[in-house]
Amino acid sequence: MPYQHILVAIDLTEDCHPVILRAQDLAICNQAKLSLVHIVEPMAMAFGGDVPMDLSMLQQQQFDQARERLDSFAGPYPQLTAEQRHLTYGQPRQEIHRLAEEQGCDLIVVGSHGRHGLALLLGSTANDVLHGAPCDVLAVRLKKPQ
Ligand code: AMP
Repeated sequence: MPYQHILVAIDLTEDCHPVILRAQDLAICNQAKLSLVHIVEPMAMAFGGDVPMDLSMLQQQQFDQARERLDSFAGPYPQLTAEQRHLTYGQPRQEIHRLAEEQGCDLIVVGSHGRHGLALLLGSTANDVLHGAPCDVLAVRLKKPQ
């Protein structure tokens, strides 16, 4: 059975392009729809939860900047029209799973830095997304920085 709707998750770093390219190739081969998502992690999460100040303006700026970057990353890929680009707040694993279910995706594509040892114990998003995923997950191996 060919895939019908592929969701590619990007972290808005330069590593995104090989991940999007792989997802795009698969979408073309399978004649599947392609959607893109980035999750903006709430600032309070980065500070460990309780922050005694109002971060709403900073968070809005963070969200607006992420929108600009998402649009510039998606620009060169004609399949990724504005309505196929999703930007949400939250925890990447939870949001990627939620969106995949909501949009009826049957494949999630993420990048993987191939961490092992302590780095893996500290967590990788690819690993996280795999656990409890509502559909297949493809981890695209990314090259280590030189
Ligand atoms: P990491 O394990 O954080 O190095 O990320 C590996 C891959 O997980 C990235 O190449 C993306 O595919 C995905 N990813 C990481 N962070 C996010 C995010 N905030 N939103 C969407 N996808 C993400």
